[in-house]
Amino acid sequence: MRAALLRDDLCHRETDFIDLFRDVRDRLSRVYPESRPDYVPVILTGSGTAAVEAMIASLVPVGATVVVAANGVYGERMEAMARALGRDVRMARSAWGTPIDLDAVRAALAAEPKASHVLAVHHETTTGRLNDIDALAAVCRPFGARLLLDTVSSFGAEEIRFADWNLDACAVAGNKCLHGTPGLSAVMAAERIFADRPSGAPGLYLDLHRYYAARYGAPPYTPAVHAFYALQEALREFEEGGGWHARRETYRSLALQVMSDLEALQIHPWLPDRDGYSCVLTSYRLPDTISYDRLHDAAKAEGFVIYAGQGDFQGRMFRVSTMGAVTRADMVRFAQVVGRVLQDASPARMAR
Ligand SMILES: *Cc1c(COP(=O)(O)O)cnc(C)c1O
Repeated sequence: MRAALLRDDLCHRETDFIDLFRDVRDRLSRVYPESRPDYVPVILTGSGTAAVEAMIASLVPVGATVVVAANGVYGERMEAMARALGRDVRMARSAWGTPIDLDAVRAALAAEPKASHVLAVHHETTTGRLNDIDALAAVCRPFGARLLLDTVSSFGAEEIRFADWNLDACAVAGNKCLHGTPGLSAVMAAERIFADRPSGAPGLYLDLHRYYAARYGAPPYTPAVHAFYALQEALREFEEGGGWHARRETYRSLALQVMSDLEALQIHPWLPDRDGYSCVLTSYRLPDTISYDRLHDAAKAEGFVIYAGQGDFQGRMFRVSTMGAVTRADMVRFAQVVGRVLQDASPARMAR
C-alpha cells in the first residue's frame, strides 16, 4: 500500500484519474455486498469528520428535527454538528461507556413524532463499545425515523446491515479499518435520496448532492489523488484477505489476546460487559501506580502508540487498537512492555 503513494501524480480531470475514481467507488460498494445496488459510496477528500458532517448537512432536511443517541465523544460530536447546522435536536444521552439508552430514544421519538432521523455512532471509539444497532433500529422503525450512522471506526470490520437497519446512510473513513491513508472519506447513502430530497447542505464543499451529480466524471473539487491510489491498493488487499469477516476475526483474535495478556498483569477492561467491545479497540483501567504519560512514553519508545482516555476518562483509561498491520508477536511484545512499566513502578521495587 505504501508504494502506491510514490506513484506519479495524475490530473484529476483526465480519464486515468476517472478510471481510478470509479474503481475505488466500485470496490467500496463491494465491501458490504448487501449494500448493492441500493446504496452508493460518495467519496470526499477529507477526514472521517468531513463525511459525518456532510452526511448530516446534506441528508437531514432543513427545518427537520433529529434525535441523537449519544454515549461518547463521537455521538456528542454528531449533536454539535446537527446544532451547528441549525437542525432541531433532541438528545437521548447516556453515560459514556454505557449502552445507548433505548428508552430515551423511544421517548424522544414519541415526543417528536416528526423527527426525520436518528443519529448514532456504530463503534463508539471513546470506549470501544460497539453499539447495538439492531436494537436501535427496532426502536426507530415504528416511528418511521431513518438512521444516519457514524461507522467511521467500524466500516470494513464489523457487520453493517443496510436494509434491515433502514439506513439512510453511514459515514466511512479510508484510513481506519480499510487501511488506506488519511485524506479520504465517504458516505454510503441510499441512492434514491438524491432524487427524492434536495440537499440540506448550507455550503458547497460538504454537499453530497454535488458529488453525486458529478459521479460519471471528475469530482467537483480537487481530490487527494495519492490517497485514492493508496485506498485502491488497500481495498485490493482487503478483498484478497477475505473481506470484512476475515478482518473482524483478525482484529478480534488480537484484541482478545491483548485483553488476556493485560489481565494477567491485573489490568482490567474498562467496560463491564466484555462482549460489548468492538473487534477494533479495547479500553483499560490505568493502574493507580502508573501515569498515562509514563505508559505512553514507554510504549512509544518500543514503537507502539496507545491512546489516552478522552474527557473525564483522561488519566484513568488507556485504549489499544488492533487495527492495521499488527501481528500476534507485536501484541505479545506490547504486553511485555506494559509489564515492565508496571514492575518498574511497583512499591516493592521503589522500596529497594
Ligand atoms: C476517528 C473517528 C471519527 C473522526 O475521524 P477523523 O478522521 O479524525 O475526522 C469520527 N467518528 C468515529 C467513531 C471515529 O472513531
